[in-house]
Amino acid sequence: MDPNDLYDITILGGGPVGLFASFYAGLRHMKTKIIDALPELGGQLTALYPEKYIYDVAGFPTVIAKDLAKNLIEQALHHHPTVCLNERIEELHPEEFEGQHILRLTGSHGAIHYTKALLLTVGIGAFAPRKLELENAEKFENRFIHYFVKDKSIFQDKDILIVGGGDSAVDWALNLQDTAKKVTLIHRRDEFRAHEDSVEALMNSDAVVKLWFELDSIRGDTAIESVTIRNNKTNETETFHADHILLNLGFMASLGPLKNWGLEIEKGDIKVTSKMETNIECIYAAGDIVTFPGKLKLLATGFGEAAIAVNNIKTYIDPKARTFPGHSSEMKSTP
Ligand SMILES: Cc1cc2nc3c(=O)[nH]c(=O)nc-3n(C[C@H](O)[C@H](O)[C@H](O)COP(=O)(O)OP(=O)(O)OC[C@H]3O[C@@H](n4cnc5c(N)ncnc54)[C@H](O)[C@@H]3O)c2cc1C
Repeated sequence: MDPNDLYDITILGGGPVGLFASFYAGLRHMKTKIIDALPELGGQLTALYPEKYIYDVAGFPTVIAKDLAKNLIEQALHHHPTVCLNERIEELHPEEFEGQHILRLTGSHGAIHYTKALLLTVGIGAFAPRKLELENAEKFENRFIHYFVKDKSIFQDKDILIVGGGDSAVDWALNLQDTAKKVTLIHRRDEFRAHEDSVEALMNSDAVVKLWFELDSIRGDTAIESVTIRNNKTNETETFHADHILLNLGFMASLGPLKNWGLEIEKGDIKVTSKMETNIECIYAAGDIVTFPGKLKLLATGFGEAAIAVNNIKTYIDPKARTFPGHSSEMKSTP
């Protein structure tokens, strides 16, 4: 192994917690790498709810998720970490290098990474949207059938069909009212999983809401021309024009190969100590993926866990270093 290929810390998961951890690792002068399975950084903020407002991040009375992600990315890249996207880590092997315990990680495309410590900030795992098994659906995916909303301007003055009954479906039905020409939401039951206030707002909005309906078929050649929905109680069908379909059917998340690494896992979450250590030497974890007594799955707590993990990793790889980093406001150069 070329010693230049050895990183102090590799952060698996470039979501909000991994990004803040990367900033902190730079602050502590650690050679840092971030690896993420998705094509862009930001985790759930970017992939699942970029246009939603967040109200409970300290110092931001309100912030749109994609703007928070943009700021976190800017902060994380300040110290120039190496970033590897579109890559999952499949295998993990402990190794010795110059008498030091290190890890060799093998990525999904065969790439090899060497690191002194690994920080797992993999959130809910590598996630993929639940898809609808419908003829024609695949050919429209990404252009006219969407599982994520990255840029709501593509819905400007369009007829949108939203499928789902959870928070994402209801929130988008409300959020797109100022953009779309018409929003129709269908849900296969008459009870929503979404927040009560959101459902009440939906029912009082201009959106057309159809309960007990499921998407039956999609017609169109190069673009969607019409959709047919079917009432699952009466079998009655309705056909109408839609330009875009937004499918909010939930996500399947999987820890994948991480489950086989010997980590102590409780109900799908990785158990950590108060220093964010897992049961395996030199592997730490933080954010949505971890569990400990009193754990809350929030951005606010995840950021704190990132700082705790990175500062403890610092003393793990350099026992002479102090765990407490000092205050950034009192550092001599710009951190
Ligand atoms: C709709 C919605 C609204 C929310 N609103 C709020 C809110 O208002 N306030 C709040 O505090 N929290 C909110 N949350 C929760 C918040 O987004 C999460 O707590 C936060 O994203 C957790 O950050 P994380 O970095 O731990 O994980 P994530 O954001 O899940 O990021 C994990 C990253 O790891 C990557 N990854 C996973 N597995 C692998 C692998 N094997 N290899 C490589 N990469 C991998 C993923 O691709 C992802 O990019 C909301 C969540 C949702 C879904």
